[in-house]
Amino acid sequence: MTPDLPDGVERRQFDGRERLATRGDPVYGEPTEGEWRVWDAGRSKLGAMLALGMDTGLSGGESVLYLGAASGTTVSHVADFAGPTYAVEFAPRPTRDLLPVAEARENLFPLLKDARKPETYAHVVEPVDVLVQDVATRGQAEVANRNRRFLREDGRLLAVVKARSEDVTADPGDVFDAALDALEGYDVLETTPLDPYHEDHLAVVARPA
Ligand code: SAM
Repeated sequence: MTPDLPDGVERRQFDGRERLATRGDPVYGEPTEGEWRVWDAGRSKLGAMLALGMDTGLSGGESVLYLGAASGTTVSHVADFAGPTYAVEFAPRPTRDLLPVAEARENLFPLLKDARKPETYAHVVEPVDVLVQDVATRGQAEVANRNRRFLREDGRLLAVVKARSEDVTADPGDVFDAALDALEGYDVLETTPLDPYHEDHLAVVARPA
């Protein structure tokens, strides 16, 4: 059975096609209808996880630490249905674009920080229900390990491993196995490749061990 979508996320018809949607200010040119805007699974790995029916454990209203926010495509949808949402991004340019997205959402808090250095934002971020990670950088498991400290005992890690960010030449399956082996302090509940939305990306749902 497909898990329920979180409260605040719906499947709605846009131009005769059923799409995921949240309610909020548009951010990236996505189609809108009234207050609803399409959550484009082809541009969002978390959107693809929901579209593929993964059991993310999200129900709506959770506190979230989001690592790799970029200019806010996905984290804007998260803030539309979640509670306090801390958005970590280390590149100044996308963070600048994230600011107006956050201005339109009072529960979204951008942090210009390096996710490999959680001690630099530990004074700001409260324990959270959900850790979302989409950093597309080498050492993706290690980033999740270092940020495990923020996750409540009954929380969830929703992470995406991009194979080519670890090793462009290696077989993606081997890269995924190595990344899962390198996760420490988590029990993996589910993994799913994000094809056809995102090639050579593995989505992982895990909980603190
Ligand atoms: N999650 C975004 C979305 O769906 O809208 C896309 C994220 S993009 C694939 C990866 C982002 O992670 C980039 O913006 C990159 O600058 C950021 N990133 C990579 N390593 C990081 C780190 N150590 N700390 C913070 N951000 C990082």
